[in-house]
Amino acid sequence: MFQFGIHKILIANRGEIAIRIVRACKDLHIANVAIYTKPDAECLHVKVADEAYCVGDEALKGYLDPAKIIEVAKQCGADAIHPGYGFLSENYEFAKAVEDAGLILIGPKSEVIYKMGNKNVARNLMKENGIPVVPGTDPLNNLSIDKIKSLAKRIGYPVILKSSGGGGGRGIRVVLTENELEENFQSCKREAKAFFNNDEVFMEKYVEKPRHIEFQILGDNYGNIIHLCERDCSIQRRHQKVIEIAPCPTMSDDLRKRMGVAAVAAAKAVGYTNAGTIEFLLDDYDHFYFMEMNTRIQVEHGVTEEVTGVDLIARQIRVAAGEILDLEQSEIKARGTAIEVRITAENAQKGFAPSPGKITGYFPALGPSVRVDTHIYANYEIPPFYDSLLAKLIVKGSSYDLAVSKLERALDEFKIEGVITTLPFLHAISRRRHFRKGFFDTSYLEERLDDILENTASEDSEIIAAIAAAKLKAAK
Ligand code: ADP
Ligand code: ADP
Ligand code: MG
Repeated sequence: MFQFGIHKILIANRGEIAIRIVRACKDLHIANVAIYTKPDAECLHVKVADEAYCVGDEALKGYLDPAKIIEVAKQCGADAIHPGYGFLSENYEFAKAVEDAGLILIGPKSEVIYKMGNKNVARNLMKENGIPVVPGTDPLNNLSIDKIKSLAKRIGYPVILKSSGGGGGRGIRVVLTENELEENFQSCKREAKAFFNNDEVFMEKYVEKPRHIEFQILGDNYGNIIHLCERDCSIQRRHQKVIEIAPCPTMSDDLRKRMGVAAVAAAKAVGYTNAGTIEFLLDDYDHFYFMEMNTRIQVEHGVTEEVTGVDLIARQIRVAAGEILDLEQSEIKARGTAIEVRITAENAQKGFAPSPGKITGYFPALGPSVRVDTHIYANYEIPPFYDSLLAKLIVKGSSYDLAVSKLERALDEFKIEGVITTLPFLHAISRRRHFRKGFFDTSYLEERLDDILENTASEDSEIIAAIAAAKLKAAK
């Protein structure tokens, strides 16, 4: 039995991340409890957990209902809750309610989630602590449009409008010229209000062609904080990550050291505990700027696990249970390169529209140094209500070059039948010359999108035709 104060964990999430947490619990001999809503009863996380409880008939409500989740945790005797990513993971009111109920939240303290949950508050706090931030403004909501225009002029176009409470690439507008400013400001506010129930918008200098570099942080409850190297998440579409790589294929050790020190200082500035991520933008001149802190486990934590050998979910649980962090910064080294691709049920040719349906065949890539984190299986019916992520394919090689070759091979092997997925799209990226050399920035994918889609158009339509033929046959 685990010697610290956590014996049973309720997992307030679904899908692949819930399964990942179940696995960590089992490795540590900690009892684990899944929750699910009625339309999600066939999801694999329900089947692998020790216990599972239904939290309602509606697809989403139960996963977002703090009172219900805490009630189930108490009833089943859980002493801790793991929120995963998305859902309630960055909701400080939920974190506070968990604390007030006398349960352990596997994450940072609610007040830290509160502070870092507002990008603008976070920026100001970092600035005060000597961490470089992108030149920008405080919230613009109470200013006249003329005043906003003059602020933009001073910063210099292009500028970017961002929702203070944003996440998942939403509530972001890039503004190239003054004529586009007012319209973008209004639409950014609307989107921010709709998605985050907070229409606060601020402005930053738009850094052109940067890399998105983020550092994994791990801290215990006694002030010990280390970083576990960086991830390069520059391969993005609509400001959302598509491919993540650890470590960054082009970064010098000197820069890694400087950014790592800044990341740990940023975490210390907020008294951070548990796992978190400091996101930076890195420009062409090796200048880096704090962008935001994510106060939860990230989707892409697996690439860090593969290169550092540290089980991040197990470590989250251990530090939450009161263990002293027994890892020193000097022990942490990235060995080789790991690459993750997010395989989603989306039709790339149709603007990446969600394509739920029944999976009729599932043949994941296998072989040495290939990892697949997923909740899908043959005959699983993908419900239309959730995020379209189906699987995360993670490959590891002793160098970036070898990792890319392995990625190309694994994507060639990977087959999901019955629904349209982004496998052909990802496969096409893995074959591209600049990607293979590690030459890319956050504009890489958008700039080549049409070309990549053209390359996969015939493959995509073959898959769509096969799905239609199979459906026709089944209907006969
Ligand atoms: P990561 O930084 O871990 O890669 P993403 O930005 O891809 O995170 O978001 C992880 C998941 O959480 C996605 O499913 C995304 O849609 C969701 N998400 C992130 N932030 C929010 C938010 N503020 N509100 C709702 N969902 C969010
Ligand atoms: P989210 O909470 O949605 O993840 P972020 O603030 O992390 O929002 O920004 C998401 C992405 O948008 C970044 O990874 C980056 O590609 C782009 N981005 C954000 N701020 C800037 C900026 N000031 N200049 C250039 N790109 C930016
Ligand atoms: Mg971000």
